[in-house]
Amino acid sequence: MIDISKQTVEVDCPDCKRPITVSIKKVADEALVKCTCGQGIQLKDSNSSNKKAIREINKSLKNLENTIKKFGK
Ligand SMILES: [Zn+2]
Repeated sequence: MIDISKQTVEVDCPDCKRPITVSIKKVADEALVKCTCGQGIQLKDSNSSNKKAIREINKSLKNLENTIKKFGK
């Protein structure tokens, strides 16, 4: 099954401005990620929008999966 939370986004390091690739799940979890320069970046999921988006997209993917299964019969 496709899991949208495994998709990645890029955030810029506030220190060296290097783009850092993080999974959407990490953003939703507001995880602390580290840049290669050693700078820690506190991810922020404003209004839990990412969490909500992951849930909703996963839900529609699941529906799509069910639809495909039906067609397969
Ligand atoms: Zn950096």
